[in-house]
Parts: sequence; structure tokens; C-alpha cells
Amino acid sequence: MKKKLTLATLWLDGCSGCHMSLVDVDERLIEVAEIYDIVFSPLVDAKEFPENVDVTLLEGAISTDEDVEMVKRVRKSTKTLIAFGDCAVTANVPSMRNHFKLEDVFKRGYLETTPGNDIIPDENIPKLLEKAYPVHHFVHVDVFLQGCPPSADNIFYTLVEIAEGRTPELSLRTRFG
Ligand code: SF4
Repeated sequence: MKKKLTLATLWLDGCSGCHMSLVDVDERLIEVAEIYDIVFSPLVDAKEFPENVDVTLLEGAISTDEDVEMVKRVRKSTKTLIAFGDCAVTANVPSMRNHFKLEDVFKRGYLETTPGNDIIPDENIPKLLEKAYPVHHFVHVDVFLQGCPPSADNIFYTLVEIAEGRTPELSLRTRFG
């Protein structure tokens, strides 16, 4: 029997929609579980990102100092790093704030749209970077899996291709196929 690979999944500045699409693989999750051991994920109870992970699906943009620390740790411990979804690939939705000064983003988020609140919190929370960045701004990415979210078919295809030792050809695959 072929040795199983290890798989990690996580999200940083993402909405979890890409993970919802992973779950949409539906009954093919059984095939995924036959190929991969999930060692770190919101779907399993692991607290620390492990070492020597074969494949990581990383959802979300990089938006805080903690995200930067995490993406570097993930890169160091992962053989094949997949930028999972458009927020990881391009910074997508989180980068909508990049057109504005950080100060104005805080004012909008905490004061103007929150009646009765006059505090912008600055303690015990991750420090927001001046801009939201795609994953490849900080670390090398092996596979860019596009889509907002990527389709379940494309996620399944990517995981199987990597397990078979092939590079997934995603350039012509759309959100729907
Ligand atoms: S790519 Fe789309 S679905 Fe995935 S985290 Fe970003 S906004 Fe959510």
C-alpha cells in the first residue's frame, strides 16, 4: 500500500469560504482521506503547526504581524505550499482596504460604523500591516489554486495530482471546471 502523505489546511485573512469548498468535495473526501493524513486543520484538533508536512492548503491574505510569522513557519515546515483561493493568490477581498490609510480603515471599522463606540483597540490584538498581501509576497508558493472560492473539483484535482507526483495544470481551469 502506498504511503499516505500528510496534509495541513489553515486560513489567515480569509472568510473560510475556501474551506467550505474543500468540504464540498463531498463523498470524494473519502478518497482524500485514503491519500492524505490531515495533521493540522480547523477540521482536526491540532494546536501547533507540525514539522515535515507534505502539502499545505493556505487560505487567506497576509494582513497582520502574526500572519507573517505563521506563513513563514508554514513555509519552513511544508514541502508543497498551495496558495488556496484568490485571497491567498492575489490578496483579493482583504486588499480592498489597500487604497486607504490604515488610520482611516480603523476609523471606518471601529468608529463610523459602530454607533456608541469611541475606542479603537490597540492592545492584545495582532498588529495590522499597512496593506494586505498575497502569500507569495512573503514566501515561495508552489501551486496557485485560484477561485473565490476554488471549486471543489479543482481542489480535488489538485490534491490528487500532487499525490501522484504531478504538477497540477490549473491555468485553464475556471471556477466552474
Ligand atoms: S478567496 Fe473568496 S472564499 Fe476564499 S477566503 Fe477569500 S473571499 Fe473567502
